[in-house]
Amino acid sequence: MKIAMIGTGYVGLVSGVCFSDFGHDVICVDKDPAKIEMLERGEVPIYEPGLEQLMAKNVAAGRLSFSGDLAAAVQQAEAVFIAVGTPTRRGDGHADLSYVMAAAEDIARAADGYKVIVTKSTVPVGTNRQVKQTIRKANPDLDFDVASNPEFLREGAAIDDFMKPDRVVVGVQSDRAAEVMADIYRPLYLRDFPILTTDLESAEMIKYAANAFLATKITFINEIAALCERVGADIKKVSHGMGLDGRIGNKFLHAGPGYGGSCFPKDTKALARIGQEHAMPMQITEAVIKVNEEVKRRMIDKLLDLCDGTFNGKTVGILGVTFKPNTDDMRDAPALTIVPALIGAGAKVRVCDPQGQHEGEALLPHAHWVENPYKAAQNADLLVILTEWNEFRALDLKRISRKMAHPRLADLRNIYSVQDAKRAGFEAYVSVGRVNYR
Ligand code: NAD
Repeated sequence: MKIAMIGTGYVGLVSGVCFSDFGHDVICVDKDPAKIEMLERGEVPIYEPGLEQLMAKNVAAGRLSFSGDLAAAVQQAEAVFIAVGTPTRRGDGHADLSYVMAAAEDIARAADGYKVIVTKSTVPVGTNRQVKQTIRKANPDLDFDVASNPEFLREGAAIDDFMKPDRVVVGVQSDRAAEVMADIYRPLYLRDFPILTTDLESAEMIKYAANAFLATKITFINEIAALCERVGADIKKVSHGMGLDGRIGNKFLHAGPGYGGSCFPKDTKALARIGQEHAMPMQITEAVIKVNEEVKRRMIDKLLDLCDGTFNGKTVGILGVTFKPNTDDMRDAPALTIVPALIGAGAKVRVCDPQGQHEGEALLPHAHWVENPYKAAQNADLLVILTEWNEFRALDLKRISRKMAHPRLADLRNIYSVQDAKRAGFEAYVSVGRVNYR
């Protein structure tokens, strides 16, 4: 099968590389020439574990190539995937579909024979029908089908998620398109991974419903964590006890500084917007969006309390700024709310992140970047763990506390315990949803 992948970001590049590893011939296209140049040199523009090796293997096998020439890639392909961004549209929370529609038009103009044009980007219900109209208008004679194929991979574990998915969702309108999609995913089908074929609207809805549900689960446990702090319960024990119930499950029950990333914030807002547009308010999702903002504000209050009520003149070390470990993605990371609040209130902030500096430098312009946690702690009044990178899970806490002007630790990922902090000589330790000491 010959595939063109339009957009080589976190989803497009991983999907393109993995499809080529299935044995398909894949051309990955991007409108950003710098990305294509890097890819042609064998460099991966994003940080995703294992991606560079898998990419090199498939380029060497002659199944994977990169190009800025969308038209040529489309002409050769039997299936064309749209994997461009759908960020939040300024002002109203709606998903910005301008990149998807622009790609659809370009594809339509370039296409000659029969193609299946597949939307992999996360798009509101009804978008695939709009894509179909756009293509029809731009190229009325074209023989084509559209398909919806939302992606569920997680950054940081993207290759495994793509190769061993919980399910693949395919929305189609014709048997012909269903057959092409079945051919593309045959290697997964043969290994018994569930392939769910639906109509277009259901496929589009599954993606938003799944992400909103996960964001709800995280936000629920974050709210329970806040109550745990008031009543003296321990959120780790509470999560464990809840998660053992098979109906609930133990995933997404870790309390922290609020969800972030490239998907949950924008997809919850887009679902809320879809609900408003259809006079069916998504009240739970709307509450989740609001509570998540409060969770981040509550983290700032915790830090302020640890700094005796003022950040002015304080030095704060921050460990981790990406929205989760094993990615360089900073989109909507809690750090983007928390760090500017500290700096704006007069703190000097030192930041350390294994992969976040490249993206983070522009987004956190007044932060000072250091190479390791020990440098972040040097003469600091407070050290904050914001992202649970493995590098921060086994710190020499004694060494850290000795370096600090005031050894105070805010562990917003609940990696350590009161005992760990006391033993290491911290005068204060605060985490999320657990008893702390000051
Ligand atoms: P991204 O911003 O990392 O990548 C998008 C890429 O598309 C960019 O490289 C951009 O230059 C390129 N592009 C835009 N318009 C183009 C055009 N007309 N022709 C060629 N290239 C074009 O975005 P992403 O994180 O990969 O997300 C893509 C979509 O997948 C979004 O809808 C997102 O919601 C969804 N999604 C993302 C994830 C994730 O973890 N990042 C997971 C599941 C679904």
